[in-house]
Amino acid sequence: MDLRLYDTLTKEKRPFQPIDAANVRMYVCGPTVYDFAHIGNARPVIVFDVLFRLLRHVYGDQQVTYVRNITDVDDKINARAARDFPGLPLNEAIRKVTGETEKQFHADVDALGCLRPSVEPRATEHIAEMRTIIEMLIADGHAYVEQDHVLFNVASDPHYGTLARRSLDEMMAGARVDVAPYKRDAMDFVLWKPSKPGEPSWPSPGGIEAEGRPGWHIECSAMAWKHLGKQFDIHGGGIDLVFPHHENELAQSCCAFHEERMANIWMHNGFLQVEGEKMSKSLGNFVTIRELREGWAGYAWPGDALRFAMLGTHYRQPIDWTAKTLDEAHKTLWRWYGDLEGVKLAPNIPDEVLAPLADDLNTSGMIAALHALHKAKRLAELRAALTFLGFTCEQRNLQRNAGGAGTSAYEVHMNNAPIKVIVQPLTPAEIEQRIAARTAARAAKDWKESDRIRDELAAMGIVLKDGKDADGKPVTTWEAAR
Ligand code: AMP
Ligand code: ZN
Repeated sequence: MDLRLYDTLTKEKRPFQPIDAANVRMYVCGPTVYDFAHIGNARPVIVFDVLFRLLRHVYGDQQVTYVRNITDVDDKINARAARDFPGLPLNEAIRKVTGETEKQFHADVDALGCLRPSVEPRATEHIAEMRTIIEMLIADGHAYVEQDHVLFNVASDPHYGTLARRSLDEMMAGARVDVAPYKRDAMDFVLWKPSKPGEPSWPSPGGIEAEGRPGWHIECSAMAWKHLGKQFDIHGGGIDLVFPHHENELAQSCCAFHEERMANIWMHNGFLQVEGEKMSKSLGNFVTIRELREGWAGYAWPGDALRFAMLGTHYRQPIDWTAKTLDEAHKTLWRWYGDLEGVKLAPNIPDEVLAPLADDLNTSGMIAALHALHKAKRLAELRAALTFLGFTCEQRNLQRNAGGAGTSAYEVHMNNAPIKVIVQPLTPAEIEQRIAARTAARAAKDWKESDRIRDELAAMGIVLKDGKDADGKPVTTWEAAR
């Protein structure tokens, strides 16, 4: 199969040719672990998971190495640790914050059907590699030491700016007005900096006596080098990382290793916004993956629905996240999964599903192909395709996140645009469970509870009939109201 991918560096879609087909190598910038990941963070995780699955399909499961790092040294982590665990020594508090956040992140992205990457390196376990790269840069005049900092000398790299396609003048204009005193040039960026007392610190490179810690960009250069080599196939992340993060990674790695390239293809996903606005805490539209799974817009949404909704838009386009899109995704999957019950997997994934994916991950084209399979009742192939794509194929009803009697419809108002989320009917087994609970309540003369269950079912269009069996024992049957 011919795979074509869009490269941010050359701004063109090109046939993908791995450096080594026996070890296809991809690096994606991972989370900074200090808080729950939001649904924008879920986008690169899902997009590059689909690419990982596709590469494994084309080159073989054991022939693809996917590295996604964990950034566990960062000012935001330090601040969170001091805030949440004021009684603990800072380093211990930091370990708590990073350890817990990493666990939350894994639970969340597992629920979204994402495979774990082949390697998930932590920045703090690669300090030695970072120091080595920094020493190489200093030795070649690409970096300098000033006031216990090490800075990358941007003027020493004639290629700087090629990824972001910005001229030095443009980048200068964007550089901060208040230039730090340790910078020779406003564009220069930090490779290493001193740690404040109590903060995590390691022996410094460049003959600096005081201990210090790495800058953010050098982490990824070091981890990619360690796990994928000086050059690899694909480097990914969100579009916001193009400048400065990836531009700086590229400069560091190419200058240190005397290579022309770091990755052959640079891929960036577009941004996600919520109900037409940038997601931000102050606007009150900030949604974490966890909230979405446990209760957002009135419901606890299955991870599959989030994954499907996310793939409805091409990865390079911006996504406008709405409860309506999520609800539609859930309804489609619910219908399909119902029809797939008892259907076995077809041995192959149909070409019409793979072909759009191979064309720069055209996931909306792929979803159109899934709809066509469903319509044509090619259910075994639909199941094979969905399984390959990371969907569970397990029909799950929407759960109200708030307690109280269920109703069949729930109005959700967001930005004054009401949407109606329809709760899917219960499965027969779930209805029987509720009837059993009601029978138990009646036996205990808990009429309030037995009425509540009857009303809850009635609101979903399920009518109960109480009677007696041949032995005179009470039995309850049900039927769906038309
Ligand atoms: P961060 O933890 O902010 O470094 O982000 C982790 C990953 O999520 C990076 O690849 C970011 O580019 C990506 N990302 C952050 N916010 C969004 C968003 N709103 N939409 C899409 N991707 C995002
Ligand atoms: Zn990175």
